[in-house]
Amino acid sequence: MLFAVEAGGTKFVLGAGPDPDDIIERVRIPTEDPAVTIPAILEVFDRFADQHGRPAAVGVASFGPIEVRPDHPHWGWITTTPKPGWSDTDLMGPLLDRYAVPGAFDTDVNGAALAEGSYGAALGAGIHVYLTFGTGVGGGLVVDGESVHGGGHPEMGHIRLPRHPDDDFVGICPYHGDCLEGMASGPAIEARWGKPGDRLGADLERAVAFEAHYIAHALADMVYIVAPERFVIGGGVAKLPGIHRATREKLAELLAGYPGLAEHADENFVVPPLLDDDAGLTGALMLAAAVR
Ligand code: ZN
Repeated sequence: MLFAVEAGGTKFVLGAGPDPDDIIERVRIPTEDPAVTIPAILEVFDRFADQHGRPAAVGVASFGPIEVRPDHPHWGWITTTPKPGWSDTDLMGPLLDRYAVPGAFDTDVNGAALAEGSYGAALGAGIHVYLTFGTGVGGGLVVDGESVHGGGHPEMGHIRLPRHPDDDFVGICPYHGDCLEGMASGPAIEARWGKPGDRLGADLERAVAFEAHYIAHALADMVYIVAPERFVIGGGVAKLPGIHRATREKLAELLAGYPGLAEHADENFVVPPLLDDDAGLTGALMLAAAVR
């Protein structure tokens, strides 16, 4: 049995299963203070253990920033998060101490990226990038079934991009202003247009064009750096009608004339996710499976 946690800013999803694609338990608890939430995780896990047996490993895919370097004394911690109460919190320690089993720890977006690669929209791609556009913007790079991190984990939401020529919005990133997250996250849309993404009305077409501009510039940079075989674009913003097609078209335009890369910008190159709500939990179970 594998136990897993998808740790989000508003809810934690706790799961168990013999394999990542066989989730037999799924429990949601609200994200409160660590002093409340961590004991609540252990209570649910103890019930899982009573009913299904002790875990062979525990995997956690968490909101961040988090410490992913295995040799760092704070591996398994949530570090400098703006989420109140969660800064410098040891999340993995209490879970691993409880069952004395190996654990694996990665970002929530890397978890989803792994899951889409093995069971979802990037199945068959040796290298793919998963990006999610929601409250923030995050991305994961997966190479041959493993998420990429080294000195820390990637922060793809904070790359800098040329502005859309008609866009005078200043951006909302507290660190950079007009980085990708500052210009293309859900709160950026709401701040720019004065209404959320699902109520854009007459501004929808322009909003999609702006989004496609920023997302496609980000993807073009990634094409040139790692030459992925597929991009999976998810999150609430990716539900804007036509966003994937508009992004593909803009990306093809940006890559035009560069031999060997532009030809990949077809309809299978930029796709929506397939796993929906189970991506994070499936990814967390995959993390656990890799260390059991
Ligand atoms: Zn930023």
